[in-house]
Amino acid sequence: MLKIAYSPIYKYELPNGHRFPMIKYELIPEQLLYEGTIKEGNFFHPDAATEETILLTHDAKYWEKLKSQQLTAKEIRKIGFPMSSQLVKRGTHIANGTFQCALYAQQFGIAMNIAGGTHHSFTNHGEGFCVFNDIAIAANKLLSSNLVNKILIVDLDVHQGNGTAQIFRNENRVFTFSMHGAKNYPTKKEQSDLDIGLPDKTEDAFYLKTLRETLPYLIDQFEPDFIFYLSGVDVLKTDKLGRLNLSIEGCKERDKIVLESCRKNQIPVAVSMGGGYSERLTHIVEAHANTYRLAQEIYF
Ligand SMILES: [Zn+2]
Repeated sequence: MLKIAYSPIYKYELPNGHRFPMIKYELIPEQLLYEGTIKEGNFFHPDAATEETILLTHDAKYWEKLKSQQLTAKEIRKIGFPMSSQLVKRGTHIANGTFQCALYAQQFGIAMNIAGGTHHSFTNHGEGFCVFNDIAIAANKLLSSNLVNKILIVDLDVHQGNGTAQIFRNENRVFTFSMHGAKNYPTKKEQSDLDIGLPDKTEDAFYLKTLRETLPYLIDQFEPDFIFYLSGVDVLKTDKLGRLNLSIEGCKERDKIVLESCRKNQIPVAVSMGGGYSERLTHIVEAHANTYRLAQEIYF
């Protein structure tokens, strides 16, 4: 069964006109239910990550500042959301959602989080709409619990996974792969184990060819026993921040390549959603919904 982490806490109230399309966290589950791709029973409400779990990844000082709401105005601006204890609570549920997805993925092959992919969160600070690094938190918890040996992170959000790269810089049990827009945020990139920076306006053919040439090779060489997939849809041509030119079909083909590779190699995969900033919400919802449709087709 396709288990999907989702909770009403995922949608955080933002001031009018804020550029983050928070409503997608409601629209995507609604669309998937409406069209019959999933049923209510597919969802589970994740618990909050414990302090112990969070501290496997984040600095105690950063965590204390979040808990006591003592981040500076500058640190909050870098994150890009209005700060509150609700935002922090939300982050702990999303992060643990990704960890619980990992456990379900070990059982069912795949599980998905309707949020997360917060790859701009570092050990000691957040930025770019990311407070905690959900995939890093889940990965560190899997490793420290001896549930997996080697993890591959496939980050195909259009922005580089800078926080993830920093967190795992000295962790050889985790291989970080980020394919992103070379000219996009963050301007100062961290070093992943493999970075592929794509030129502006990259289209389907070149993008998919690059992925097809890279992913099987990484799986063969590194032999992961777990994969995290960050399926951001800000690669779309319609994306306001993306700078690449993928079509909706190309984006779906990208997801298919990743999920089929995981399935074929029998490596459990947990999917976190990542970014998507198309002008029209329907494009964002459709592209994310495709990832769920494919998961049902390929696995169940
Ligand atoms: Zn992004």
